[in-house]
Amino acid sequence: MIFSEGRRGFRAYTTKHLDELLGRGGLDEQARLRVRAVATVLPFRTNAYVVDELIDWSSIPDDPIYRLVFPQEDMLPEADVSRLAALLRDGAPAARVQEAAREVRMRLNPHPAGQLELNVPRVDGESVQGLQHKYPETVLFFPKQGQTCHAYCTYCFRWAQFIGEPDLKMASDDIGNLVEYVKAHPEVTSILFTGGDPMIMSEAVLRRYIEPLLGLEQLESIRIGTKSLAYWPDRFVGDPDSDATLKLFAEVVASGKSLAFMAHFSHPRELEPDVVQKAVERILESGATIRTQAPLIRSINDRPDVWAHMWRRQTAMGMIPYYMFVERDTGPQDYFAVPLADAHRVFRDAYAQVSGLCRTVRGPSMSATPGKVCVDGVTEVAGQRVFVLHFIQARDPELVGRPFFAHYDPDAVWLSDLRPAFADRFPFETAGAPGPLST
Ligand SMILES: *Cc1c(COP(=O)(O)O)cnc(C)c1O
Repeated sequence: MIFSEGRRGFRAYTTKHLDELLGRGGLDEQARLRVRAVATVLPFRTNAYVVDELIDWSSIPDDPIYRLVFPQEDMLPEADVSRLAALLRDGAPAARVQEAAREVRMRLNPHPAGQLELNVPRVDGESVQGLQHKYPETVLFFPKQGQTCHAYCTYCFRWAQFIGEPDLKMASDDIGNLVEYVKAHPEVTSILFTGGDPMIMSEAVLRRYIEPLLGLEQLESIRIGTKSLAYWPDRFVGDPDSDATLKLFAEVVASGKSLAFMAHFSHPRELEPDVVQKAVERILESGATIRTQAPLIRSINDRPDVWAHMWRRQTAMGMIPYYMFVERDTGPQDYFAVPLADAHRVFRDAYAQVSGLCRTVRGPSMSATPGKVCVDGVTEVAGQRVFVLHFIQARDPELVGRPFFAHYDPDAVWLSDLRPAFADRFPFETAGAPGPLST
């Protein structure tokens, strides 16, 4: 509660506040400078709720929520941090710092632009900005006003969207195009609002996007991917338009569609404050369902008991565990990556501890270009140690639910690190393709 000022309402903290926040957290000047150096490259944004209610400041830098939102000096190569820190220390002009930061950013491997998987479909020959149609039944939509979050996660795979590189932006404010696109594609039954965080939008803006969809008979569900329950639960309790927002949710349900709230929770700590329980109750009262998902992140949630505790608590609160993701290979991925073999062990050891009601969860799942690949386990077949995998979801529905194999590799962290076993190529690779598809 170190920053409590007894004020209500959302208060964002940005890099402007970083030095003060770190100082109050006890970091010395040298350490603060190096964290600020990292924050010139990777985006930083948090808020007073996260800082006051979620972070345990007596155990930084190891505190998992601190690691979830604050940049760490070892997220970037030592030499880069030193160079940027020297520029900050010497009071270099902002343009010079930004130029150096940009140069480091462009060297981050791989460049995040590829990860946005811009699969922009066309209507009447025109590209539909902010829309991604990867699986036949589901369309992702990125509303223009939803391109930020209540706080940024250090591991975010969409961080490029937050740094103002114009060519990396992909959002749309054109709901008409979305409606036309859906009408032209009768196979689409589900729309997933994502971002950023769509719940950063006010009720009035959210309504402009959602209302036109309610008359589309083919739509069975509207989903909202959001971390607001973890980072700003007051969005559904004390915020001025919380009642109106919940009424909008109820209208979706009344229109005969399922409103699925896809809640991102990274750690059980995020479930603890009373306001979260209250927010969950209010969302469920609207008739929406809440499904939970998060990536597995080294040093934040890479122990089975963390996940078992999280799934149990979520289920007790009325939420439905949905996915455990493998962290994508973007940004400071080396820093957060958990090898697939370890990820499966964490999943299995957590899954084995919980009741069947929590076992709605699937994972560990890689959301890769050909689809969502689940690591089912490691076993021996015909004397070879192999990974057993299957597609939970795929561009090509033929691939879904059919097991396939890869050579066991304890260091593999992503699909692109795997080599096919008992076959020349993976089922998602077309004949004649040179090697594993990039993901
Ligand atoms: C996960 C995901 C979806 C939704 O998939 P479900 O298995 O239906 O939850 C849709 N689009 C993309 C790009 C995804 O990664």
